[in-house]
Amino acid sequence: MELEKYTDAMAKCSYCAFCQAACPVFKEDLLETHMPRARMDILRAALLDGELANTRRVRSILDRCLLCGTCVRTCPAGVPVDDIVIAARSQVYGAGRKGMVDRFFRERFMENRGLSGLPLLLARIARNRGWLAPEIPPFAPEPLSATVFPGERRHAGKLRARAVYFTGCATNSGYTDTGKDALFALAANGVQVVVPKGIVCCGMPALAEGDLETARAMAERNVEALKDLEADVLVTDCTTCGLMFAKKIPALLGPDHPLAEEAAKLAAKTREVTDYLANLGLVAKPGPLEETLTYHVPCHGNWTETLANAPREIFSQIPGLTLVEMDRPDACCGAGGGFFMDERPLSQGIRKKKLADIRDTGAGLIATQCPSCRGFLADPLPDLKVAHPVSVLARALAGRVEGVEEE
Ligand code: SF4
Ligand code: SF4
Repeated sequence: MELEKYTDAMAKCSYCAFCQAACPVFKEDLLETHMPRARMDILRAALLDGELANTRRVRSILDRCLLCGTCVRTCPAGVPVDDIVIAARSQVYGAGRKGMVDRFFRERFMENRGLSGLPLLLARIARNRGWLAPEIPPFAPEPLSATVFPGERRHAGKLRARAVYFTGCATNSGYTDTGKDALFALAANGVQVVVPKGIVCCGMPALAEGDLETARAMAERNVEALKDLEADVLVTDCTTCGLMFAKKIPALLGPDHPLAEEAAKLAAKTREVTDYLANLGLVAKPGPLEETLTYHVPCHGNWTETLANAPREIFSQIPGLTLVEMDRPDACCGAGGGFFMDERPLSQGIRKKKLADIRDTGAGLIATQCPSCRGFLADPLPDLKVAHPVSVLARALAGRVEGVEEE
């Protein structure tokens, strides 16, 4: 009875309806049942109080949530609607919301931070035949972990800090350029990076499904792999991996777990790479980039106070680079991790306004830290480039720093 744990949290809702204007799903389909507070009432009535049958309609309300957290950030009472939806999914579906085939691929993917062997071959065939959503980025010829090996890496100039770099699944298997650029930008700014051994997926793909058992297993393995590494900071380029380490893993393990203390220590020193560099300060001077870009703030880009603004700080230090803000840069793009694969018309409807806002800026480049947003925005805008902000910085630093690898 996972949902029962949130009885008190749900009782804090004052029915102020601030979350109504925040929820991208409600704004798109205007169904009152999709307002965050209504979702909670329906889930409570169906799953706790027995006042409603657990029908297909109830499960659809449960499924049609992006877990974007916009409602949580808007809620004056701090009701954790996203965690409540995850708990309800766990209660309703256990480990199998989408069936055994999905679970097979998801577990292989999470274990390896990408696919390999036969599952990779099957995924490539499915992709080439158009059976997969086109927004899923192609698998890189080889994963980042095949070229960037565990251990300490060289840094430029005086040592300023020591960072452990967590490579998430999307960076490891698809956006390997982002990982290489993050390593380079850190090293160029005097940060010694340690690439750890034995890490697995951050656990979010399982958590989002309500598969708490797998998410916990991933969290335990990562905390075990990282807890003894001496470092000032745990850096990731993925805002969702960062959210997991900074917020979700300590809650998932709970205060009585044997690894609770270690998880809390890791949470306190988790930073997204541009957030970390913007606060540390750049010592490597960026060269000019004559370019106009716009910045999409991922929904999971708010777990430190400075994170959402960090890329802007970095861009302002690159000569010639012009940032044109889109209308509502922090509005959800509709990707929602893997939501865009399951709820195609809904996610595409949410994306429509975002695409128009991007077009209005006239920018030739979209910067965003979330790999899911990146793929979802890139596909319908083939004439625009989409990149992680750290890749923009790495380009501005290329050829200007001696003594570090530029992979
Ligand atoms: S997490 Fe996002 S999609 Fe889900 S109820 Fe809240 S605002 Fe709506
Ligand atoms: S914003 Fe929070 S308190 Fe207000 S209705 Fe929504 S969930 Fe309830």
